[in-house]
Amino acid sequence: MAQASIPSSWCEIHCDRISSNLELALGLVPDGVEFCAVMKADAYGHGIGRVVPLLLEQEVGCIGVTSNAEVRAVREAGFSGRLIRLRAATPEEMAGALADHVEEQVGSVWAARQLRQIIGGGGRPAGVHLALNCDGMSRDGLEMSTKAGQQECREILETIGQNIVGICTHFPTNEPVPLGQSADRFSRQVAWVCDNSDLKRSDLLVHAGSTLTLLSGEPVETDMYRCGAILYGFLKPELGFRATMELKSRVVHLGDYPKGATVGYDCDRRLDKDCRLACISIGYAAGYGRIAHDCGAVLIRGKRAPVLGKVSMNSIVADITEIGEAQVGDEATVFGGDGPNTIGPEMAVSQFGTILPDLFSDWGLRNPRAYRR
Ligand SMILES: *Cc1c(COP(=O)(O)O)cnc(C)c1O
Repeated sequence: MAQASIPSSWCEIHCDRISSNLELALGLVPDGVEFCAVMKADAYGHGIGRVVPLLLEQEVGCIGVTSNAEVRAVREAGFSGRLIRLRAATPEEMAGALADHVEEQVGSVWAARQLRQIIGGGGRPAGVHLALNCDGMSRDGLEMSTKAGQQECREILETIGQNIVGICTHFPTNEPVPLGQSADRFSRQVAWVCDNSDLKRSDLLVHAGSTLTLLSGEPVETDMYRCGAILYGFLKPELGFRATMELKSRVVHLGDYPKGATVGYDCDRRLDKDCRLACISIGYAAGYGRIAHDCGAVLIRGKRAPVLGKVSMNSIVADITEIGEAQVGDEATVFGGDGPNTIGPEMAVSQFGTILPDLFSDWGLRNPRAYRR
């Protein structure tokens, strides 16, 4: 079993950076406004079991999740505070999470009736959040711009009004002008709900806004920001936020190939000079996406080695002609720093054609994780 501890590729998680990103984030939250740390996708690929204790150290009072597995992991990590599910749930999920005291989101009469039945059995009254659609997510919030939507809202309030502790929405964009309009619309929707029910604004947790909303600096009516991305250093390095994950692999073969040789499936890339090539033990099965064929680079011994040809399932090929000292067993950094060089967010985003939350959650779930303090 000793071999199992030598992974082909792995994620290095910098716990100290998560803590300092959190501290910076908490410093940006206006006085009197709360902070919900979002732990979806197993803490954006970092591992709930290791991230939640870091949240506890800084007394984060609210955590947001989606699946029941995440609910359980957050409780097992020792968090007894407010836990909110940030999406609609099936009745089975709601029933299964009851013992963990999850506050559910409700955006339809159907969901309200299901939840009413589930908690009706005399269990502890779980807090419920009324989810409203505001300017365009149309994901799981109640559409309030139509008469039918307003009527449905009244029925939800009749069904489960006494359990409602919050009203929430999720903004589809955070550009200043549409964000301001969405925020105004949400404020009016919240006022409408209070005017048309026994709910009092001052008793409710009204929440909207994620990392980009918080960083936008736009004034938004919210009692709480729900942030994930900000913890993992995707944004604003100029404010001191640092990327919390690195993706590493190893050189497993070195070979000399002549000018004219082709590299990879479909002979897609032809060498225009004699080259020394390294095979690296990471491929698309570990999250090195096929879209990154014949572009990008890895770092070996602190130097940039261009990646050539199509990505294989478990390997890529890098040109190390300029890195004469490279050896089998050397680390190859796919994302992160090595010596003077870094493969940073900007490069990863262009190379893999997607956003960092997608990359981190994918890499973190596909690879073993090594934690650094
Ligand atoms: C994912 C999510 C968030 C957090 O978004 P970030 O951009 O990672 O801060 C907040 N609210 C809801 C409803 C979400 O689904």
